[in-house]
Amino acid sequence: MNRNDLGVIRRYLLARQGCGMDVAYRVAGSAGVASPRKEPDIVMLTSPVVDMKPGIRVTREPQPAEQSSLFGEPGKKPGLDLSEYDLPKLDTLVSTCVRCRLAEGRTRTVFGSGDPRSKIVFIGEAPGRDEDLQGLPFVGRAGQLLTKMLAAIGFSRDEVYITNILKCRPPNNREPQEDEMTACEPYLLRQLELINPVIICALGRIAAHGLLKKPTALSILRQGVHYYNDVPVAVVYHPAALLRNPNLKRDAWEDLKMVRKLYDEAIGEGA
Ligand code: URA
Repeated sequence: MNRNDLGVIRRYLLARQGCGMDVAYRVAGSAGVASPRKEPDIVMLTSPVVDMKPGIRVTREPQPAEQSSLFGEPGKKPGLDLSEYDLPKLDTLVSTCVRCRLAEGRTRTVFGSGDPRSKIVFIGEAPGRDEDLQGLPFVGRAGQLLTKMLAAIGFSRDEVYITNILKCRPPNNREPQEDEMTACEPYLLRQLELINPVIICALGRIAAHGLLKKPTALSILRQGVHYYNDVPVAVVYHPAALLRNPNLKRDAWEDLKMVRKLYDEAIGEGA
């Protein structure tokens, strides 16, 4: 592939990015042919390049100007000005939230836990039964596995920040609905703005879609790095998926190593 090819691919990719996020860039073999038929299955190699998994290289793309301050930019937040809220005040506000139907069935809201000064934020889907009862994210079975996953890459739960797309439990743990995610989104955006992480890890498809607004399959999303307002977003399997399908654990381990590598690079320890 020559420089012209790269330019064409770059223009194609930029033209496709309409929702504030970058796509994952995957090496499509040594010939490096980029096909517009397959969505993110596309080559884009410029420096600086981060080597992630075998055969996958990721590079950072410039953000279009209008995406430059997604965390809480005035006028960009979906319908709620939270700019005066710090995390404790936001937590209190969330605890009385009635912006969607999930308020009716909840026991407690689940705002987030961990270190609010952490440089890494893990985002899950929504509270389950245990979380709803305790008011804390990821405390059930999936949460126990998440704790082990974090430990495997050298993090304790206390040194990361963990939250969810939704702050209330959907009935019978059903999937979050679009309007519920929209209603809850300002809280997550403000959390991210306040915490200001250098890397975000989306746990599973719902978290990835909620954050990245891309209906791409998880199997594709997890193969590269995305950007949310310049902040790298890694997409990994949700721990509940690993409980259901232990065969995914090998891939999950690769994903987690990628998360650690991105984190180390972002804080300047991986260079
Ligand atoms: N518990 C959470 O807090 N979030 C999930 O996505 C799953 C379990």
